[in-house]
Amino acid sequence: MKKVLVANRGEIAIRIFRALAELNIDTVGIYALEDEASVHRFKADEAYLVGKGKKPIEAYLDSESIIQVAKEAGADAIHPGYGFLSENLEFAERCEAEGLTFIGPDTHHLDIFGDKIKAKTVAKEAGIPTVPGTDGPVDDVKAVLSFGETYGYPIMMKAAMGGGGRGMRVANNEVEAAEGFERAKSEAKAAFGQDDIYIEKYIANPKHIEVQIFGDSHGNIIHLFERDCSVQRRHQKVVEVAPCVDLDPALREELCQTAVKLMEHVGYVNAGTVEFLLENDAFYFIEVNPRVQVEHTITEMVTGIDIVQTQILIAQGQDLHKDIGIPKQEDIKLKGAAIQCRITTEDPANGFLPDTGKINTYRSPGGFGIRLDAGNGFQGSVVTPFFDSLLVKLSTEGLDYKQAVQKMTRALIEFRIRGVVTNIPFLINVLKHPTFRSGKVTTRFIDETPELFE
Ligand code: ADP
Repeated sequence: MKKVLVANRGEIAIRIFRALAELNIDTVGIYALEDEASVHRFKADEAYLVGKGKKPIEAYLDSESIIQVAKEAGADAIHPGYGFLSENLEFAERCEAEGLTFIGPDTHHLDIFGDKIKAKTVAKEAGIPTVPGTDGPVDDVKAVLSFGETYGYPIMMKAAMGGGGRGMRVANNEVEAAEGFERAKSEAKAAFGQDDIYIEKYIANPKHIEVQIFGDSHGNIIHLFERDCSVQRRHQKVVEVAPCVDLDPALREELCQTAVKLMEHVGYVNAGTVEFLLENDAFYFIEVNPRVQVEHTITEMVTGIDIVQTQILIAQGQDLHKDIGIPKQEDIKLKGAAIQCRITTEDPANGFLPDTGKINTYRSPGGFGIRLDAGNGFQGSVVTPFFDSLLVKLSTEGLDYKQAVQKMTRALIEFRIRGVVTNIPFLINVLKHPTFRSGKVTTRFIDETPELFE
C-alpha cells in the first residue's frame, strides 16, 4: 500500500494517519463541510470535501462520494475507523468491487457480526456461553411475555442491528415489557433501518469484559488479553481499564481462549473484539465488534503492540508473527496497567447535555505514562453540535493499577479546558471513588453512585 484514505473524522482519523505515516504510507482525509476547520483535515497529506449538500453525519456515510475520492486520489485502500461505515457490509463490498482494500475483516464477518442475532447464533454453534435469550427475533408481544414468564424479570429487549449503547430497553415486569416492545421496535426502525428485536435475560450486576483479537490471512488467531469497560453510562463506555483488576488468572485464560475459539470458528481476519458480561465468575458472550475500538489505546499500552498498524499490515496480507513480528501467543505478556478516560464536552450536572462553543483555554497534561488522542482538542477550536462530543481520550499507564489510577487522577486535575463544559470533574470523582479504586466496578456503578455527580 502506498496511499490510504481514512473514512472518518476526529481523533480516530488522526490516530490512523499517524499509523500510516509511520509505515511510510501517504494519507488521504475526507471532511464534511461543517468540519472545514477540523484538525483531522489538516493532518492528512491531502483532504477532500465529501457529501456536498448532505447533513454533517451523512457526509461521512456517503459511500459513493468517499469511494470516488479514494479512486481519484489514487488510494489503494480505505480504513473506516470506528462508527460511520466501519461495520457497513455494503460499503466493504463496494470497496472490494472497486479494487480498494477495506482495512477490516472479510465481508462475511461483517455480515455475521453486524447482526447481533446472527452473532449469537454463531457463538452458540461454536459452543460459547451466551446470555440466555430468544434464538431469533421476536415477532409479537406474546413471545416477549412468554420469555419473561419462563426466565423471570427483568429482561432486556435488544435491536439486532443496535450499537453504541442504543437500541436496548430493560423491562422489569409484564407491563413494561408489553409497553416497551412496540417502542423498542419503532426506535430500532428509526435508528437502524431494521426493527428486529430479540430478548435477553437482564444480567443484574455484571462487569463488561472484552477480549482484543487479531486474525491474519494465514490462519493465525491471537488475543491481546482483556479490557474492563464496566464504567458505563446508558450502556456507553466512559472509563476503560486494561487488564481487568483482580481477575483470577484461570478465569482470564478461559475468557481469552473462549474469544479465540469463536474467532477461529469463523476464520476471523483483522482486529476484532469479543464482548462478554461477567457475573459471579460466569461469563456470557454478548457481541463482537469487527473493527478498531475507541479504547484500543490501553491494550497498546499493556502489550506494546500497535493495533492500528497491525490492522494495516494484516490487510496487506502479512503474517502476524513472521512478517509483523508479534510474538507467539505464549510470549505476549501483559505489562503493567492502563486506563482510558473519554473526555467529552458534556455537562454531567445537566444530564450530560452536550455543550458547544469556542475553546478559550486548552492546556493538556503531560509527562511519563500519559497518552493523548485528540481531535479538535486545542486552543481556539470550535466545538460544534454536529458530531459526537468526544473531545480527547486520555490514557495513562503504570506498573500496576494503583499507579495508573494515580497518574490518571493527576492528569485529569492538570487538564485546563475553558470555554466549553467538559466531564472532567465527573471523571475525577470516578477516579477517586473507593469502588473504582478497588477495581470492583460493575455496569451499575454510575447509576448507583449519585456522589459522582457532586
Ligand atoms: P452496543 O453494541 O450498543 O455496545 P452491547 O450488546 O455491546 O451493545 O451492550 C452494551 C452494554 O449494555 C453492555 O456492556 C452492558 O452494560 C449492557 N447490556 C447488554 N446486554 C445486557 C444484558 N443482557 N444484561 C445486562 N446488561 C446488558
